[in-house]
Amino acid sequence: MPAPEEAASARVTILVPCLDEKATLADLVAEVRQALEPTGVTPEFLFVDDGSTDGTLDLLREMSASDERISYLALSRNFGHQAALSAGIDHAEGDAVIMMDADLQHPVGLLAEMVRLWRSGCMAVNTLRVDGDSRSGKTLSSRAFYRLFRLVADVELQPGSADFRLLDRLLVLHLRGLPEKARFYRGLVPWMGFRQVYLPYSPRSRRSGKTKYSLRRMIRLALDGLIAFSEVPLVFSFVAGAGVVAVAVLYSLWIVYAHFFTQRTLTGWSSLMLAILGLGGLVLMSVGLVSLYVARVYQEVKGRPVYLLRESSPPGSRGDGGGASPKR
Ligand code: UDP
Ligand code: MG
Repeated sequence: MPAPEEAASARVTILVPCLDEKATLADLVAEVRQALEPTGVTPEFLFVDDGSTDGTLDLLREMSASDERISYLALSRNFGHQAALSAGIDHAEGDAVIMMDADLQHPVGLLAEMVRLWRSGCMAVNTLRVDGDSRSGKTLSSRAFYRLFRLVADVELQPGSADFRLLDRLLVLHLRGLPEKARFYRGLVPWMGFRQVYLPYSPRSRRSGKTKYSLRRMIRLALDGLIAFSEVPLVFSFVAGAGVVAVAVLYSLWIVYAHFFTQRTLTGWSSLMLAILGLGGLVLMSVGLVSLYVARVYQEVKGRPVYLLRESSPPGSRGDGGGASPKR
């Protein structure tokens, strides 16, 4: 976060992942520049070509050759939106990084406000998509996802969170330092803490081309997010197993009673039922127990730091305690 007098000269990187977005890149650059003019910021652009096949990379080469404020990274193949964002985060040099889509669905009108909030001390300015047509399949499924996520995850995810946000350099460095590979930025950014705000926006329609998020990709993103931030699925079989065992114990009592005191049992039924119930419950529960350990192993493997430091004293030693300090 720069002091106000440095703010005008602050470097702001616009990070744009692109998969076959040739048609909109020139418009995007022009519109972003225009939108940021009132703030005095001259943005730098960092495009990440995520394995495009429509000539996006050729265009990026041309753009960056003729304009020193435009640079690009090209991935060797299509690695996906979140991976493209990771590449950009690893290479962005700005004091603030704004990530946005190439298709101009994210309104550039919000950029000036994002920069203003950053200057006033917000470390992350996130956005929330507010949909006009709330009955479309995509909106309904994303609503269901956010509801489920809220229920099971250990990080607060605002419904409608989008990958359109400004991050202060400190947060960018913290993200770089995270060893975890499967990134779900909509969860990771709020997880980081610091002062964050949310701005609502209504998405515009895609300027050109079609969505790159197929149903399959959306399901994958949703699963990545859930698995990265929730152990509930793993703990589920343990809970289910414990439930079955509890019911089995009660039922067994009844079977024993029926066996000795009523005429309502067939020969062999009682012992068979007891064996099935007991074993079934035990098997489920032991799978569940293994899952508990897998959950713990997974937690450790993710290598997410236990905490992030905001600051410490004396000032020179900031961040070199046991917690995560950002790496360059
Ligand atoms: N994108 C990408 N790699 C992918 C899929 C998408 O870099 O594998 C980019 C895409 O070019 C766009 C952004 O991610 O800039 C969001 O994708 P899209 O607009 O297709 O998603 P939607 O807005 O429909 O959810
Ligand atoms: Mg889009």
